[in-house]
Amino acid sequence: MFWADSIVDDFLAAYEEEAGKRKLILRDEKTLSGRPHVGSLRSFVMHAVLSDVLHSRGVDNVFYYEINDTDAFDSVPSYVDSSWSEHLGKRLKDVPSPDGKAENYAIYFANEYTEVLKDAKFNVEFYVSSERYEAGEYDKYIALALDNKDKIREIYKEVSGSQKDESWYPCQVICDGCGKIATTRVTGWDGEKVQYSCDAKLKYTQGCSHSGEKSPFGGNATMPWKVEWAAKFCVVKVDLEGAGKDHYAAGGSRHVSNRICEEVFDHKHPFDVRHEFILMEGSKMSSSSGVGATAVDLYQLLPRYLFRFMMIQKDVMKTINFSPDGDTIPVLFDQYDEACNDYFNGGEDVIEHKNRIFEFTHYYEDDIKKRNRFLPRFSQISFYSQMPHVDMEKRVEEMKGAELNDLDKEELELRVKYSEKWLETCSPEKYIYKLREDLPEECANLDEEQKGFLKLLAEYLEENPAATGHDVQTFIHDKKKELGFQPAVIFRAIYASLLGKDSGPKAGWLIEALDNQFLINRFKEAAK
Ligand SMILES: [Zn+2]
Repeated sequence: MFWADSIVDDFLAAYEEEAGKRKLILRDEKTLSGRPHVGSLRSFVMHAVLSDVLHSRGVDNVFYYEINDTDAFDSVPSYVDSSWSEHLGKRLKDVPSPDGKAENYAIYFANEYTEVLKDAKFNVEFYVSSERYEAGEYDKYIALALDNKDKIREIYKEVSGSQKDESWYPCQVICDGCGKIATTRVTGWDGEKVQYSCDAKLKYTQGCSHSGEKSPFGGNATMPWKVEWAAKFCVVKVDLEGAGKDHYAAGGSRHVSNRICEEVFDHKHPFDVRHEFILMEGSKMSSSSGVGATAVDLYQLLPRYLFRFMMIQKDVMKTINFSPDGDTIPVLFDQYDEACNDYFNGGEDVIEHKNRIFEFTHYYEDDIKKRNRFLPRFSQISFYSQMPHVDMEKRVEEMKGAELNDLDKEELELRVKYSEKWLETCSPEKYIYKLREDLPEECANLDEEQKGFLKLLAEYLEENPAATGHDVQTFIHDKKKELGFQPAVIFRAIYASLLGKDSGPKAGWLIEALDNQFLINRFKEAAK
């Protein structure tokens, strides 16, 4: 069963009463302390797909995604000027934008990130955390948290074993002296105002020693994040909210927040969903010229449908390993092609959940039938795009065995674009082929058997100038039987004479991509 169907089944079984009577609410968030890492995409897409699945079943729902701008700025990323360190300890909202143009630091990074999420065509509504604070929506919960500080302390201790001092208050106010929030400590609460001291010494910043008194309401304060998380469940009236499996470990934060939600705020906690992570691997990724591990970087490597397919096809409880400088991208294209082919041409034996994955990959299309187009293999396109003088459209027409229609041409253009991007930024060495203009020196190592074969191949191409890749493969196969050549030895001779390498793409692709006379001359020269 498709993972999202299975989660939605369980969710609807638990929310039988509510479904259909009112709009159900799903929520997730991201703190914009810099460029979001790829990991944040996992949670976002999980919620978005659950929302789509509910929608496809006629269940009214909305997915809210919070741009968290009220957390404290706790480290200056390498790509932000080091002078920003003077703002450490402030809310992200109170830190200036690195480009001096956006409204603030959080919004600057949110813009870049939400562009990508919107471009991926998921159904989502964004909101900014500070706006709800300023509108007073959190006031009730701040008061409840302050009134029930001992109970909250008890929950922390019972669930996670963490000990808070008796003088601890679950609230932090913005200092009137220095504008920081991470450095203040509430010391008293009279039901209207809190007393505080800005005296915390943190690893990354310290307080200004100011002390004073102020109302914690209307955006003047936030809460420690496990308490705040519980308050968010209430403020946004969340019915379903998932989290990474680490939050669900024994003593994990979600267990703390769920209990605070129910026992302090008297509100049913949202339906729980756990998810796994995305791991980015690869050596080129961390280098300054290469691809980074940010969500935006990853998105730019893939066409929209492939990004969605990658995120949707994997069960949320399984890790996605993304290795941009390994085989991930060509393999993903192949997997997508298979899914697409199964969807449109598969018989009864296609597994239902595979079709669900394909449907939700293309859920944004007004008509999924439009996705029925010819899909030339990505690795083959990337190979052709490296060979000189290849008439790509003609080659792909031969693969299809028919003229290309508009959808086919659009897809071809897209694959050429993404293969060029891939070759430029992160493709592994083994996918990079450069046709040698002169006979490669590697040919000096060819033995008599290999030379004999290249001579035969040159003669064959002279006699059969219109030979296709398939014809050549058949020729090689026949000679192998007839003369007892080892195929691997033969292929090495072909790669050595054209690419100066001992491995390469399918020999047929090479023969088809290159000029007949060029091949004849080269094989003869190599056979000398
Ligand atoms: Zn201060």
